[in-house]
Amino acid sequence: MKKYKIPFNKPCIVGKELEYIKKAIEKGKLSGNGEFTKKCDSFIEKKFGIKKALLTTSGTDALEMACILLDLKQDDEIILPSYTFVSSVNAILLRGARPVFADIRPDTLNIDENKLEEKITDKTKAIMLVDYAGIGCEMDKIRKIAEKYNLYIIEDAAQGVNAKYKNRYLGSFGDVSAYSFHETKNYIAGEGGALLINNEKFIERAEIIWEKGTNRQQFFRGEIDKYTWVDIGSSFLPSELNAAYLWAQFEHLDDIQNKRKELFEYYYTELKQLEEKKVLSLPIISNECSPNYHIFYLILKNEKTRNSLMDHLKSKGILAVFHYIPLHLSPMGKKIGYKNGDFPITEDLSERLLRLPMYYSLTETEQDYIIKNIIEFFY
Ligand SMILES: *Cc1c(COP(=O)(O)O)cnc(C)c1O
Repeated sequence: MKKYKIPFNKPCIVGKELEYIKKAIEKGKLSGNGEFTKKCDSFIEKKFGIKKALLTTSGTDALEMACILLDLKQDDEIILPSYTFVSSVNAILLRGARPVFADIRPDTLNIDENKLEEKITDKTKAIMLVDYAGIGCEMDKIRKIAEKYNLYIIEDAAQGVNAKYKNRYLGSFGDVSAYSFHETKNYIAGEGGALLINNEKFIERAEIIWEKGTNRQQFFRGEIDKYTWVDIGSSFLPSELNAAYLWAQFEHLDDIQNKRKELFEYYYTELKQLEEKKVLSLPIISNECSPNYHIFYLILKNEKTRNSLMDHLKSKGILAVFHYIPLHLSPMGKKIGYKNGDFPITEDLSERLLRLPMYYSLTETEQDYIIKNIIEFFY
């Protein structure tokens, strides 16, 4: 891989990560659900107002667990945006259920709540929300729709850790939700995630699925004398090494957020002049949301400008990237029956969006260099 002067992302060490990893090793328990895992789980529950949190090996795994818990079956339909990461849709397909894509809002790039009802049929079982860039979806309206049609909400809050919608943390809105602690997210474990359960009826079964379909959790609590196979499940527990790393990050929850806020606001202030000149637009944060500053993106005039700006930055040693290829236009999306033109806003914005480097150790000098090169590109 080419080495950039300023990469797109750098995993960070913010505190006692190495010390805690050493401690986990010295404790002689590296497999899952040890001291660090329990600390992380209860921190998530208390801090973010979640009924039950279970660390997982990834956000992807948390979404897969969510779909097992909802007992998705063939012919069940789940509505989700096409503008998201592949894990959201794979979790549905792995259960043999049917993903039904919907378009996004042009301002937040989140699922358009006004286009949900037209997608609902008597087979619809759930709505899968994605809190893009740590900005919450229009939760009030979506919850009303879910109640009206008796649908579950799965909240893919992979990008939404420590962000709020109207004073409630993202991740607390789904019957089941997912966080990610992948190294490209705000709080990291290398690979890692969490399943968040807010609908109590799923708690008991979640622990079983998490422990490979056994009732080992009940055994550990002394509720039964011997544990055994009681349901389907898989190995969804992360190692204590990952949990130890994550715990050190949680101890600096606010430091990390504040640093990202500074980076975000600096980009915003310095690039505002380009928005005023109408050559690009900057992220929009709705009034109801307090974000976690996960992504700083630019929306360019068209795909050509986006790609030439990206190339220009590359030539200066700066890696800026875009995502997502709309799922409905990817080879797999076409295979399940979607085509060009199905979701115009998703198609348009995905061609024009560019993400700038955004990580804890990014310095002001480096940020100045990025900003200078973006401004120069337009003169
Ligand atoms: C990162 C991400 C995931 C997957 O998380 P992993 O921890 O990488 O498996 C899922 N959905 C969205 C929206 C994401 O951004």
